[in-house]
Amino acid sequence: MKKIVCLGGGYGNMRFIQRMLPKLPSDYSITLVDMNPYHGLKTEYYALAAGTKSEKKVRVDFPDDDRVEVLFDTIREIDIEAGRVTLEHGSLDYDKLIIGLGCEDKYHGVPGAAEHTFSIQTLRKSRATYEQIGQLKPNATVGIVGAGLSGIEIASELRESRGDLSIKLFDRGERILPMYPARLSAYVKRWFDENDVEVIPNSNIVKVEADKVYNNNDSHDVDMCIWTAGVQPVEVVRNLPADFGPGGRVELNQYHQIPGHRNVYVVGDCAALEHAPSAQVAEGQAEQIAEVIDDILKGRELPGEMPEIKMQGILGSLGSKEGFAYLKERTVTGRIARMLKSGVLWMYKLGNN
Ligand SMILES: Cc1cc2nc3c(=O)[nH]c(=O)nc-3n(C[C@H](O)[C@H](O)[C@H](O)COP(=O)(O)OP(=O)(O)OC[C@H]3O[C@@H](n4cnc5c(N)ncnc54)[C@H](O)[C@@H]3O)c2cc1C
Repeated sequence: MKKIVCLGGGYGNMRFIQRMLPKLPSDYSITLVDMNPYHGLKTEYYALAAGTKSEKKVRVDFPDDDRVEVLFDTIREIDIEAGRVTLEHGSLDYDKLIIGLGCEDKYHGVPGAAEHTFSIQTLRKSRATYEQIGQLKPNATVGIVGAGLSGIEIASELRESRGDLSIKLFDRGERILPMYPARLSAYVKRWFDENDVEVIPNSNIVKVEADKVYNNNDSHDVDMCIWTAGVQPVEVVRNLPADFGPGGRVELNQYHQIPGHRNVYVVGDCAALEHAPSAQVAEGQAEQIAEVIDDILKGRELPGEMPEIKMQGILGSLGSKEGFAYLKERTVTGRIARMLKSGVLWMYKLGNN
């Protein structure tokens, strides 16, 4: 039996397996390896950390199919020259490899950031953030570094979870989400103003201590700091003998293969693609990888050019009742945007059960 090995059961590999199974030749099986015994819904980790959703609501089961073997283990090393993956408990050979291990925080060399900030990048770290938030004394101050989608979502969810906290959101830009229309930014800013979240624009965090965040020439007393100011591929991927593009992501050919290793594919946050990393991009790319492998296994010629990965836009929440979206170049705000986001999550869970 030949083996397609999928490293990481995130959005990319979940979609890959879903699309590959109906095409899988009878002499092939799939092995999925993840350190967790379920697929974590990373896009919801902010709610787990804020304490507004239980862990069971932010995960779905891995595929239950005779052709898919699921291994719960930690990947230590990927040797693409030898064609072997080293796990904490053993090793794996593969005929085709799909690396979808996601990303972790990037601290941009800011002293103290790695040691003194909390994270929402993994389930384990989101749990630790939740624990810390739960232990904060009344009226404590929480600093959130980075006002991208995840920073905005954790700030608003935290406000909803704990009305007593003072929340400071350090935003690098002049206005929130500057790449989207001013109306969208103004709406998000108004929500924060009305809900007593302090947004500090033009921030440049230069140091973090256990109880202080240093921003430009100011220092802010905090009881806890959450870092949402940048990501990079996980270390085992950074250690690959490959070329790396912006953000430390692996450079690929148009078929999403590592050049020189045409049986090794990289999907999702670890891959250098023209779009910023997101679950949406990971899924679009995964669908293309399934098509490419199907063509190769059936002996068909690969397309001269791969189609563009289509993006739908963004959807963000501001607590449980409001949200914002930028879809097909249109701004949607308020309850409808929030309902859209909940609907997408519901559909995703349904599609994976
Ligand atoms: C708070 C937050 C909100 C977000 N909101 C959105 C959104 O609204 N829309 C959107 O499109 N994107 C959103 N994103 C981004 C999105 O979550 C990621 O782009 C997406 O998860 C990437 O998918 P992936 O398949 O590359 O990796 P992931 O989904 O991160 O999966 C990686 C998997 O690899 C496993 N893994 C990692 N290292 C190892 C190892 N050494 N051994 C074993 N297993 C390992 C992990 O357990 C995990 O299951 C958000 C992210 C965050 C943090």
